[in-house]
Amino acid sequence: MIKTVNLQKVFTTEEVETTALNGISMEIKDGEFVAIMGPSGCGKSTLLNILGLLDNPSGGEYHFYGTEVAGMAERNRAQLRKGNIGFVFQSFNLIDELTVYENVELPLLYLKVPAGERKKRAEVALERMNMMHRRNHFPQQLSGGQQQRTAIARAVVATPKMILADEPTGNLDSSNGEQVMNLLRELNNEGTTIVMVTHSPHDSGFAHRVVNLFDGKIVTENFHV
Ligand code: ADP
Ligand code: MG
Repeated sequence: MIKTVNLQKVFTTEEVETTALNGISMEIKDGEFVAIMGPSGCGKSTLLNILGLLDNPSGGEYHFYGTEVAGMAERNRAQLRKGNIGFVFQSFNLIDELTVYENVELPLLYLKVPAGERKKRAEVALERMNMMHRRNHFPQQLSGGQQQRTAIARAVVATPKMILADEPTGNLDSSNGEQVMNLLRELNNEGTTIVMVTHSPHDSGFAHRVVNLFDGKIVTENFHV
């Protein structure tokens, strides 16, 4: 379980202060599928990045599976991220110089998984995302749907507790988007916690709970039964 208490995030650039998060208290249980919605600039990505240990809050508490991480140094945060969290982004964020296979293998290299085991696990993830036939291609040689399936393979290869997805279907046509949503649902059905930012009411329909943000605050929460 993860839990935040009165989370704050202030960005300061050129003496301008922006309050991106202004008192977010929320709890996400293991196995939940939560969608975060709200207008552009309301703090969705900032919240996701903090939940995913990519960034620290400016104030408040963040309990990550029993560990208080709000003030943790970048180096320790990165360590905790490995193997615990998988990220999927709207713009895929694959490494252009690496093949599909090498992109997917990367988290296992960071975790120092032995070579034989790496190959096995990378191939299972690629197989599952129906990307084995493109394993030696480079990201630029793939369609958007294939790039996102590669990114999901990379996100799941180290069997994380949580997958965080920031508008994962934002750059995809509806049929590829549907495929990505079905994959996320399948992973959730197997027990992976999913937190997803989306603008799409269709995509948020896959979630158990929709958290609506406005101006860095939670304004409403809707539960799907
Ligand atoms: P959303 O994802 O909901 O569109 P963001 O979380 O990206 O919104 O941004 C929330 C607010 O914080 C915006 O006003 C944005 O301009 C600001 N912001 C986000 N990241 C940074 C940053 N790295 N530096 C300065 N301001 C930022
Ligand atoms: Mg955003």
